[in-house]
Amino acid sequence: MAGGPVAPEMTMSIRLAMRLAADTLARGSASIGDDWVVGGACLGMDTDRVFYTPPKYTRAYDTCARCSVAVECLAEALLEERKVPQQLLCGVRGGQAPRERLWLAIESGVRKSVPATMEAKAG
Ligand code: SF4
Repeated sequence: MAGGPVAPEMTMSIRLAMRLAADTLARGSASIGDDWVVGGACLGMDTDRVFYTPPKYTRAYDTCARCSVAVECLAEALLEERKVPQQLLCGVRGGQAPRERLWLAIESGVRKSVPATMEAKAG
């Protein structure tokens, strides 16, 4: 596994999301589907403003923290973004910022390569 900012005390929901994404991909599917979307705590919110306007992600993190489908949301984000160039990742999804999701995707094996810019920073 690649080294990164994934803390040992990483929450269970993040671990579950990583496992769900990896297992889904191992079964030959690139998506867990979208049935979970209707349970999102952000449903009806102006997500363009709240979730895609850095650096003030505070409200997005607060919303995700009380969301009952955060595991599914993060897993789907890891799958959807696994081939998206690092510089195009944006917004908060599943309670995680783009850089966090990038590392989680790598740690889970969903994303294969570490971008050169991150290798340099990781040492
Ligand atoms: S985890 Fe966050 S972004 Fe995902 S559905 Fe829930 S509130 Fe929305």
